[in-house]
Amino acid sequence: MIFADSISDYTRSLYVIYGVLFDGTSSFRAGSRWAPEAIRKGSYNFEPYDYDYDCDLANVPVYDMGDAEFGNVNDMIAELQPTIFRVIKDGKVPIILGGEHSVTLPCIRALAQDTSVTAVIFDAHLDLKECYLGNMYGHASVSRNILGCSIPLIQIGVRSGTRAEYQYAREKSTFFTMDQIRRDGIGNVLNSVSRLIESNSVYLSIDMDVLDPAYAPGVGNPEPYGLTPFELRTAIRHLAPLASGFDVVEIAPDYDMGMSAIAGAKIVRDFVVAHSNVHILLT
Ligand code: MN
Ligand code: MN
Repeated sequence: MIFADSISDYTRSLYVIYGVLFDGTSSFRAGSRWAPEAIRKGSYNFEPYDYDYDCDLANVPVYDMGDAEFGNVNDMIAELQPTIFRVIKDGKVPIILGGEHSVTLPCIRALAQDTSVTAVIFDAHLDLKECYLGNMYGHASVSRNILGCSIPLIQIGVRSGTRAEYQYAREKSTFFTMDQIRRDGIGNVLNSVSRLIESNSVYLSIDMDVLDPAYAPGVGNPEPYGLTPFELRTAIRHLAPLASGFDVVEIAPDYDMGMSAIAGAKIVRDFVVAHSNVHILLT
């Protein structure tokens, strides 16, 4: 099954969807390797037409490149980076369906090969652990590894981390907690984010647990007091035009009969609509 309305071939496409079936370092609830299939299935729930943007997704050149499956995190990182680099080299925007959050690192590295990048990550968790359960490249360390590549990092929706992680974040990262978002409003936070971006390109990563578990219970590590879907859509509409790469990760569809995967499919569609509105329809 391909993602709904992904009617383009590779050559003519401007967006390339790619599933990464990997949840090998998941600590609490595994199962995100089943997410790409559930997200694709969920994508058929929606109309091709977006009223707010007057955009018909059936006219946007999206190609679904299928899935890659990996047995361990080192293979995943080594093999995913060149694949995504080729997609970017070919002038396309990669849209990664995770899989767990560790898949973000090789995708950002691929983008950083040829241009300056800022990583903008929506996540309940800081993911700044030096090592977790014996693994330095697990999903709980992805943000740490991004900073390790000297890529500037902006984290939004944070509400979970160890004391050491928060200390590390204060030194090396820029982060906006859920309490800040509640106090200042998502619009003001997004304006601050825009002012912080100095790089030529942005990689946007959505760890689905940034949403409140009331809206997205089917994730690896549910964390209460999260974003509403409306706030996340506002953020995607704001940041998508700046992005050269995008992922949705950490959905574990077995825990909620695929409801979070349906939300993930909608987020992918919202990203494509908001990005193409600037990069295709108005140019
Ligand atoms: Mn994460
Ligand atoms: Mn998380």
